[in-house]
Amino acid sequence: MTDTFRAILVSKADSGQTTEIVDLTPADLMEGDVTVAVDYSTINYKDGLALTGAAPIIRHWPLIPGIDFAGKVESSSHASIKVGDRVVLNGYGVGEGHHGGYAQKARVKGDWLVRLPDSISNEHAAAIGTAGYTAMLCIRALEKNGVTPDKGDILVTGAAGGVGSVAIAILSKLGFRVIASTGRASEADYLKGLGASDIIDRKELSEKGRPLGKERWAGVVDAVGSHTLVNAIAGTMYGGTVAACGLAQGMDLPGSVAPFILRGITLAGIDSVMAPMAKRVEAWKRLATDLDLARLDAMTSRVTLKDVPPLGAEILAGKVRGRIVVDVNA
Ligand code: NDP
Repeated sequence: MTDTFRAILVSKADSGQTTEIVDLTPADLMEGDVTVAVDYSTINYKDGLALTGAAPIIRHWPLIPGIDFAGKVESSSHASIKVGDRVVLNGYGVGEGHHGGYAQKARVKGDWLVRLPDSISNEHAAAIGTAGYTAMLCIRALEKNGVTPDKGDILVTGAAGGVGSVAIAILSKLGFRVIASTGRASEADYLKGLGASDIIDRKELSEKGRPLGKERWAGVVDAVGSHTLVNAIAGTMYGGTVAACGLAQGMDLPGSVAPFILRGITLAGIDSVMAPMAKRVEAWKRLATDLDLARLDAMTSRVTLKDVPPLGAEILAGKVRGRIVVDVNA
């Protein structure tokens, strides 16, 4: 019996990069003390950058992309990860410099794996993915800085995307009133269904603005960066916190220190890739209690490995709504 498994492999070519679905064997995988039978992967913005080559995300060629996976441990020599454990992996350079989640099998360091809470299935873990776990990291940053529902509204930018959709669902369950900023007016009902109270046109925030604006929200989850982040900061109430995790509009920060020195605003930077294990475990524990799974289902679409390559360009174009789960065995 051959021990092959299916994977997406991206290779470097003179003309750019090529993507194909191939059969590999365990010998093709990289080093690691745990092998996982992957059930599901996902598509995040960074996967879009890797799949299209729009940014130099891939650092090893050829590579199986996919920065997330969820599955069951098949073999392990790691001290605390056991055969049969249900695990999720987010980041740690997987899908960048180490073979990733777009495969039926993965071999990684056990230190990179989070054991899933009982109430989160492998499919739901993939639906949450890096985008959803990052949304939770943003919300934890707001909470740690004392942003509570009585302090005021929360602005979520890039609202109809992955980070934005999960952030809205969690914030509304926690009792926050959410203002969703989107470029897709057609998604207003979708965003309200996730728990947003107000919808604003992202154009309100995407142009160069003033250093200080009207105080409109107590906190922000920003997936967009650039002028949007600067305007979000300028509209934050005295003492509020802005969690910055994304760059969908741009990586620049063309703003002023005025909100920081005149209103005591905190800008909290959010990194999911190298976040320490304790922070991850805490985030996944909170996701188990504070994310309504019916709302998660409502924002999730399901695809197979063959559907993944074209979706890379779609997510970069801002055309993907919510989250995508990739069933690697379908
Ligand atoms: P998505 O593509 O799912 O969501 C991004 C959303 O941003 C889009 O849906 C769109 O929302 C909005 N958007 C897209 N282009 C623009 C633009 N030019 N100007 C303003 N808004 C725009 O991506 P993810 O949710 O997966 O990721 C969101 C961001 O967060 C990405 O930049 C990603 O790299 C970053 N990220 C960072 C992490 C970290 O560790 N710091 C981890 C995870 C993600 P709408 O249509 O509603 O306007």
